[in-house]
Amino acid sequence: ERGRLGRLRHTPAVTLDGQKVELLANIELPEDAEGALRVGAVGVGLFRSEFLFMGRGIGDMPDEEEQYLAYRKAVEGMQGLPVTIRTLDVGADKPLDEKPRDEAHLNPALGLRAIRWSLAEPEMFRTQLRAILRASAHGKVNMLIPMIAHATEIRQTLSLIDFARAELDNRGVPYGNVPIGAMIEIPAAALSLRTFLKYFDFLSIGTNDLIQYTLAIDRADESVAHLYDPCHPAVLRLIAGTISECVRQGKGVSVCGEMAGDTQFTRLLLGLGLRSFSMHPAQILAVKQEVLRADAGRLAPWSREVVDSEDPGLALSA
Ligand code: PEP
Ligand code: MG
Repeated sequence: ERGRLGRLRHTPAVTLDGQKVELLANIELPEDAEGALRVGAVGVGLFRSEFLFMGRGIGDMPDEEEQYLAYRKAVEGMQGLPVTIRTLDVGADKPLDEKPRDEAHLNPALGLRAIRWSLAEPEMFRTQLRAILRASAHGKVNMLIPMIAHATEIRQTLSLIDFARAELDNRGVPYGNVPIGAMIEIPAAALSLRTFLKYFDFLSIGTNDLIQYTLAIDRADESVAHLYDPCHPAVLRLIAGTISECVRQGKGVSVCGEMAGDTQFTRLLLGLGLRSFSMHPAQILAVKQEVLRADAGRLAPWSREVVDSEDPGLALSA
């Protein structure tokens, strides 16, 4: 199977009706760029920057140079293809150091994580922002903000990015044009698209957290894993609404959660208008095979029916 799929590596991902689809890689280390290229990824849709920070205490955070070199390595590794670097997403299932969860934080998934953490530590955040901006002097870089929900958080984040740019200008350090995008992974964000599309250049749907927060199911809790359902109609409506609003406004949108790499959902997402999928590199060729067999135009009305049905999981497998 792998050998047969391997032949698809250089085949462009185009549907039967001629729709071009972008298949991107999720990576966690700069060295993962190599594996992404090997399966024919046309870029990195999600570079989780946590790897540099996890397992380290607050007094031992990577400085600007260390981060810059790591981001630059990923960018150069992709040989001119775009790399979307996500700002730090720590907290909840991604603790900074090895210590057990702080007992004061009884509900870490709802606590100080991701952009909330970054905005609470503006010095450290600006250090990361400068490092990401600097990496853009070496290739195409997009910046992605995790777990953002409020207009105030958006404005604060964008002004810190402006500030980081000004700091680099003052130092005479080069950087390129970096589009800024937001993860849609909190239901409130999926229901505030007008604000998000006013401020951001593109959106990326993080289905892992979007499912967790829509259904109130801790993604790390085995005892409720049977209720963690990507096919709940509420989840699908939030995904469908986000894709269609971005398409309507001509803004880039991708899915970078596990759903993007699950071939069960490829046809549904194509039918909903998605043309950019970001996933673990191991999934890219299997998803490409689904894309090559799909007729996106014919899938569109079917996808709407699936989303509107009482039990989309059943409709999907029918
Ligand atoms: C997601 O939530 O879907 C996502 C891609 O981010 P992470 O899995 O890193 O939280
Ligand atoms: Mg997430």
